[in-house]
Amino acid sequence: MDILKQYNIKANKNLGQNFLVDDNTIENIIEAAKISKNDFIIEIGPGLGTLTKPLLENSAKVISVEIDNKMIKILEDRFKLYNNFELINEDILNVDLNKLIKERKNNDTDKVKIVANLPYYITTPIIMKLLENKLEIESITVMVQKEVADRLVEKPGGKNSGAITYAINYYTIPKKIMDVSRKSFIPSPAVDSSVINLQVLKKPSVKVSNENLLFKIIKLAFMQKRKTLLNALTNGGLSNKNTIEQMLLDLKLDLKIRGEKLSLEDFARITNYINEKNCAN
Ligand code: SAM
Repeated sequence: MDILKQYNIKANKNLGQNFLVDDNTIENIIEAAKISKNDFIIEIGPGLGTLTKPLLENSAKVISVEIDNKMIKILEDRFKLYNNFELINEDILNVDLNKLIKERKNNDTDKVKIVANLPYYITTPIIMKLLENKLEIESITVMVQKEVADRLVEKPGGKNSGAITYAINYYTIPKKIMDVSRKSFIPSPAVDSSVINLQVLKKPSVKVSNENLLFKIIKLAFMQKRKTLLNALTNGGLSNKNTIEQMLLDLKLDLKIRGEKLSLEDFARITNYINEKNCAN
């Protein structure tokens, strides 16, 4: 890529640097994020600024967080004429996003939206951070590995579902926007990608009396995916076997059911049962 040559740098594989070079995909991401003139965008990993440019041109404010200081000089040069651009040279996992949003939101900015072509080596921690921090954001529109996207947009209980599927469906309404060929990036990664959009819910989709317990139970159920829920929760130390057996009977769940067959509502019922009976170990 000319710009890399011009600055005499190479894409850093360890930082997940696969730069998007397909205009059609860029347009689709911007469209999927439904960006409007008053939006405040937080971009994770701007890289060479391919997505940053249309974001700057279509919104009130863009804050881009980039870990690689080699990219910083390029971005500063490229966007020095935009007064709605702010660049933070930091690991996204170390940024206090709640504080950032509170400090930077003003009368000119309306909805906060996250847009990114994410570095694949930390996709899950980034998405979980965005959700668990309960940010005041409208949506998350991101490019991720296709295989991960399939897990994120799966219905709980579906064949691709994992623990994260339940977390996503607890906090958001997920949707796949498009698949993207590996050829749309330089350098080309070993796998294809997908763009997904997560509409963040004002209130979680199910009501639980103890959120930490809900995620603990989901995690235990998926740590031992092939075991019955009864064994997974007992072996995981949630409570003793008799209690969990009684709970399954009370909640009218099959004693042999596996965690991956449960809906989010089922996990919520289990959580509330354990929490109310105070029988977690
Ligand atoms: N947005 C650009 C594009 O679409 O061409 C680059 C996307 S590239 C897949 C991921 C970007 O995230 C890289 O620029 C990389 O340096 C940056 N990155 C990697 N780890 C990061 C982290 N922990 N915090 C912030 N940025 C990170």
